[in-house]
Amino acid sequence: MRKIGLTRTANLLPRLRGGLTGGIGQALQVVLRLAEEEGRALYLVGGGLRDLVLGREQVDIDLVGEGGMRSLAEAAVAALGGRWLEHRAFGTVTVEGQDFRLDLAMARAERYARPGALPRVRPASIGEDLARRDFTINAMALALCGRQRGQLLDPFDGRGDIARGLVRVLHDRSFIDDATRILRAVRYETRFGFGIDEKTLALLKRDLAYLDTISSARLQHELLRLLAEDEPEKGLLRCQELGVLAAIQKPLRFDDELAAAFRRARRAGQAPPQPELYLSLLGTRLSPADAEAVALRLAFSKRQRQALEGAAELAQLLPWLSQADVRPSQMVERLECYPLFAVEAWVLVASPSTSVQNLSCYLSEWRYVQPSLDGRALARLGIARGPLTGGVLQLLKAARLDGQASSRQEEVELVRGVLAGRVEVPEAEAGAE
Ligand code: ATP
Repeated sequence: MRKIGLTRTANLLPRLRGGLTGGIGQALQVVLRLAEEEGRALYLVGGGLRDLVLGREQVDIDLVGEGGMRSLAEAAVAALGGRWLEHRAFGTVTVEGQDFRLDLAMARAERYARPGALPRVRPASIGEDLARRDFTINAMALALCGRQRGQLLDPFDGRGDIARGLVRVLHDRSFIDDATRILRAVRYETRFGFGIDEKTLALLKRDLAYLDTISSARLQHELLRLLAEDEPEKGLLRCQELGVLAAIQKPLRFDDELAAAFRRARRAGQAPPQPELYLSLLGTRLSPADAEAVALRLAFSKRQRQALEGAAELAQLLPWLSQADVRPSQMVERLECYPLFAVEAWVLVASPSTSVQNLSCYLSEWRYVQPSLDGRALARLGIARGPLTGGVLQLLKAARLDGQASSRQEEVELVRGVLAGRVEVPEAEAGAE
């Protein structure tokens, strides 16, 4: 396993302070002073602490303390301004001002009534709070104030696992209690270049079927988090290898070619691709019926669903797009029914062919083509405003696309042909004007 250089425990607090910029540093200082005055300890926990141990400076600040957080939040708002918001179900309070936002959580223990259910929560000690967490690397706490200030609470040897580069669950029922941890394990493993500990891996494989107990919304949330990683293809390849994708929904799959297409998608754009483009790429491997089933299982939004299903449906159009007698205007008319993500996905994933060439032309050129004449110009030429206008505009657009008109003057000639009855006008679609 990879050896990782860790921040020494004594350096964690200075490093944390060094990484805090803007209002958050000042807000944290005030909250810690107020907590000291109340005689209570606050701890940095979760991913922020893991990243700090890993040597990162700028980390998310998730704070946990024992007991209710309301009085501390009220005092913080009185001192700092801003407002506080309580999320009762989890015992967390968010304090936010103009240039900071701090989450204060009450240490809690959790009990799972049945696999996959949201846990029952009760106030607990910091030790119990750490014991409810997903992996050892996320189950540490750094005391920021109080008697233990500067000490690292690390009951499961998270620090050791970070050094060894291992993702390890805290107990044997972890994936049964909450199978979203399966996706989380893969996410951390691939993000940090870690490995999943051997026993954890056996448990993960044993408990794959428990993914069925997870609600669509939670499953979707974790999958989108995987897609939001810098290199999501690594996690998806691993999910494929471990059988995670098939356990989510049978036909869902990922392969090396899709991974290459994911990388091309990132190289092609200036900003990281939107998740919908990745979903469209996944859709290129699905039949329309399977894509619909996946979208349903993951409770996708309309936009996400269209991206996935659109790509699956577009597969059926590919042979037609390569036929020599199909005109660009006909292709545009059909392609306009598909989300752009789906078209982009096929360009990224398919090997060079006439269809792909046409899809590329559609993306870079054809979809922008419009006639020079508009409704008003047509009226001046004698086309009465009404349904005919839409039809003539469509005719002119098609003429432009198919190379039958390349200038305004040639469009005018075509309109004259219409008026003289020499040129037939297609029936306009509703709203084509
Ligand atoms: P990231 O680095 O991707 O933002 P994170 O480690 O901060 O991830 P979050 O999902 O924001 O993770 O959750 C914060 C902390 O809450 C985690 O570090 C972990 O300790 C705990 N946690 C989150 N989800 C679970 C879960 N499903 N089961 C147990 N503990 C969890």
